[in-house]
Amino acid sequence: EETDPLDDVRPQNPVKPMTATEVKVNVSIPEAAHRAAVTGADGVGLLRVEHMILSTNMTPERYIRDHGADEYIEEIVDGIQTVADEFYPRPVRVRTLDAPTDEFRQLQGGEDEPKEHNPMLGYRGIRRSLDTPDVFAHELEAFRRLFDMGYDNVEIMFPLVNDAEDVLQARNLLEEAGVDPEKRSWGVMIETPASALCVEEMAEAGIDFASFGTNDLTQYTLAVDRNNGNVADRFDELHPGVLKLIGETIETCREHGVNTSICGQAGSKPKMIRYLVNEGVSSISANIDAVRDVQHEVKRVEQQLLLDSVR
Ligand code: PEP
Ligand code: MG
Repeated sequence: EETDPLDDVRPQNPVKPMTATEVKVNVSIPEAAHRAAVTGADGVGLLRVEHMILSTNMTPERYIRDHGADEYIEEIVDGIQTVADEFYPRPVRVRTLDAPTDEFRQLQGGEDEPKEHNPMLGYRGIRRSLDTPDVFAHELEAFRRLFDMGYDNVEIMFPLVNDAEDVLQARNLLEEAGVDPEKRSWGVMIETPASALCVEEMAEAGIDFASFGTNDLTQYTLAVDRNNGNVADRFDELHPGVLKLIGETIETCREHGVNTSICGQAGSKPKMIRYLVNEGVSSISANIDAVRDVQHEVKRVEQQLLLDSVR
C-alpha cells in the first residue's frame, strides 16, 4: 500500500488548526458519531454508556432479566462500535454507566430503584457498579469483546471515583473480565474534591488518564446542586476553588505521567481554555457544536504562550 509522506503532518481536516493541546469531542449518543467525527476532533473525550441503556427504556437489571445478559452486552458493544468505527484509529474514551436513580426510575424496572433524598449524592457511577459487580461484569465484558474484535482505540473511564480504593476495585473487576489493564488505556473522571486530592494515589494504582468532569466537580466543590434553579447563579465552574483543584491535579498528574483532560461543559469556555492550556492540560473535549470554536481558541492561547515565552 502506498503512503503519502505528508500524511503524518497534514491535518485530517484542512480547516482545522494544528494545536499541541488535543481537542476532542463529547458524544452522548452513537447516532451522533459521524457528525462528531467530521469536526476533525482528535478523538472522543467522553462517550456515555448510559444512553445506550436508557434508549432501551429499561434499567440494566430489567433488561438483563427480560432479554438476557448477552443481548445487554451486545447493546453496549454495538453502541461503542459505531463510534469506534467512525473514529478509528483516533481514541474513543468510553465512560462506564453513570445514571442517578431518579433517571433510572422513569424506565421499566425503575420501581425497583432505591428512593433517594438526593440522587446526586447517592447511588450512581462507580459506586453502583462496585456494589453490583454482576451487572458491571457484563459492561466490562463488552469492552473485552471490542478489544478482541481489534478496537484498540477504545479507552475505559470510571465515573465518580473518590480514591485509590475505588480505582483498585474497578481495575480488579476489569482484569476479572479478561481485560489486561497493563495493555489498555483506562482512567477516571475527576468529579469530586476527594478524587482531585487523591489523584497521586490513583496514579500509583495505575490510571493512564484523569478527566475533569467540571459539571459535577463544580457542584460538589461549591455544594451547589447542578439541577437546582434556586442556586443556579452560584454554579461557577471558574470559581477559584474549582480552578485550584484542577490546577493542582494537572501538576500532580504531570509528575506521574498521567494524561489530563476535561470533558465537562466548562471545557468550551474561553476563560477555562486559557487556564487549562496555561496549566498544561493534555486535551480538551467539547460538544460537537463547540469543537470548531475550541480548536481556534486553543490555537490562539498556544500562540500567545509561545509569544510570551520568547519575549
Ligand atoms: C461532568 O460531571 O462534568 C460530566 C461530564 O459528567 P456528567 O455531566 O455526565 O455528569
Ligand atoms: Mg459527571
